[in-house]
Amino acid sequence: MAEKKKLTTAHGNPIGDNQNSLTAGKRGPLLMQDYQLLEKMATFNRERVPERVVHAKGSGAFGTFTVTNDISKYTKAKFLSKIGKKTEMLARFSTVAGERGAADAERDVRGFALKFYTEEGNWDMVGNNTPVFFIRDPYKFGDFIHTQKRDPKTNMRSNTIQWDFWSLSPESLHQITILFSDRGLPQGYRFVNGYGSHTYSFISPDYQRYWVKFHFKTMQGIKNWTNEEGEKIVGKDRESSQRDLFEAIEKGDYPKWRFMVQIMPEKDAETYHLNPFDLTKVWPHKDYPLIEVGILELNRNAENYFAEIEQAAFEPSNIVPGISFSPDKMLQARIMSYADAHRYRIGVNYAALPANKPKSEVSTYHRDGQLRFDENFGGLPNYEPNSFGGPKEDPAFLEPPLKISGDANRYNHREGNDDYSQAGNLFRLMNESQKQQLFNNVYAAINEVPERIKMRQLAHYFNADPAYAKGIADKLGIDMKKIEKYAKMNLKELFSATSEEEYKN
Ligand code: NDP
Repeated sequence: MAEKKKLTTAHGNPIGDNQNSLTAGKRGPLLMQDYQLLEKMATFNRERVPERVVHAKGSGAFGTFTVTNDISKYTKAKFLSKIGKKTEMLARFSTVAGERGAADAERDVRGFALKFYTEEGNWDMVGNNTPVFFIRDPYKFGDFIHTQKRDPKTNMRSNTIQWDFWSLSPESLHQITILFSDRGLPQGYRFVNGYGSHTYSFISPDYQRYWVKFHFKTMQGIKNWTNEEGEKIVGKDRESSQRDLFEAIEKGDYPKWRFMVQIMPEKDAETYHLNPFDLTKVWPHKDYPLIEVGILELNRNAENYFAEIEQAAFEPSNIVPGISFSPDKMLQARIMSYADAHRYRIGVNYAALPANKPKSEVSTYHRDGQLRFDENFGGLPNYEPNSFGGPKEDPAFLEPPLKISGDANRYNHREGNDDYSQAGNLFRLMNESQKQQLFNNVYAAINEVPERIKMRQLAHYFNADPAYAKGIADKLGIDMKKIEKYAKMNLKELFSATSEEEYKN
């Protein structure tokens, strides 16, 4: 049995009565001096930190990563340096659009964020269960997320605003195809693959740069619900993914993922047939096969959800020597926005919280700030350069220079891009039952949006594969000839022909 502890205030003063407030007389009003009651109410009012603006509803667990294959010729990252090496880690999974109280079994992308507590600082792999994303230019991120959230007038989610944005952003087609496929509604977090999605880089011990994509393949198998199954689950259990993950770990059935990479020599990027830094594209496996790196196992639930999972802060800017960034515009923006979001959400000293604190030593010149609850580096110098033995930079950690060329400009990110082939490739690899699910799922979501938006979207589907458009058009009762007419237009013509002013039924 747990030791009986004395109840105290937050300042350690013993409490004699935690049942009855201090009042003037038996029926009388409260006394201002009831500091115990005041502390209790004031602390309660401040219990919530702002929820994440995206990925608000999440679950997490701690685990161990074990290297199973030697890839040390590609990266000097010490935690990947030899077979059998183990690193403690933390994972957080989430849905994207729903608020903190949203149900888990909803059709949505799943966040897949990992923090590896390596001997060279934390490496955070902040990905999704999809290898691509809806947009390729971060300028559109806020707009896109607004379409996933509540309509400003009705305060309800709206299929119309979602399809309006997607149909005006054909680069979303690949991701939409995944979202509305059978994989868009996973049975739980244990049953999804994780992807770094962006292209990152490896720096080798001999100072070469390789471009790299990260994949985490579930060893539990991919398992999904249909829309109908999902609705039944939500009716009974809004926490189905949280429950599944928590209970599996509690009973010792530890979920595992196989960590794999695709590796592209630096020079290939200049001649590869697609832009390898475009977040809406994958690298086909036949061009860059998967190479195993290790096994990730989740084996410990948090003792306190808020402290260890809600306050966990993942950020793609946490890299270790041997792993770095790429010119992917979306990644570049996330390098800024994640740390910025954490500073707002949990405060400037969030990196010192137990879930975020590296296991390796931290030596910085950052000081002070709200809730500096550690020793604030004591009397060590707080400026650099100094001649009092403060920490020093080490050029051994510099990366090889990256050649960048071109004129500064706002380049049209759609120009010359093929937004249809890879979405079509995914459609074509689905079996008949998966195709039927895809048609049904799209139909359920698009059926009630205005026809001109449907037509715009069907033109994109047609360009990915006419059979893809037909499967949906048949359900909607729309004539393929009409779709074909719109599909032949260039984007400017399509957008104008499907505008409110010009569209004719
Ligand atoms: P491959 O046949 O080598 O690979 C197909 C991939 O598609 C597999 O990784 C498979 O995952 C995955 N997949 C199957 N069904 C779905 C689905 N409903 N949603 C998401 N992924 C699915 O072909 P390519 O490498 O040439 O890629 C073809 C298409 O596959 C791409 O256009 C892309 O849409 C998709 N894909 C490709 C990935 C890549 O990195 N190359 C990664 C994921 C998807 P699994 O093996 O786990 O079943």
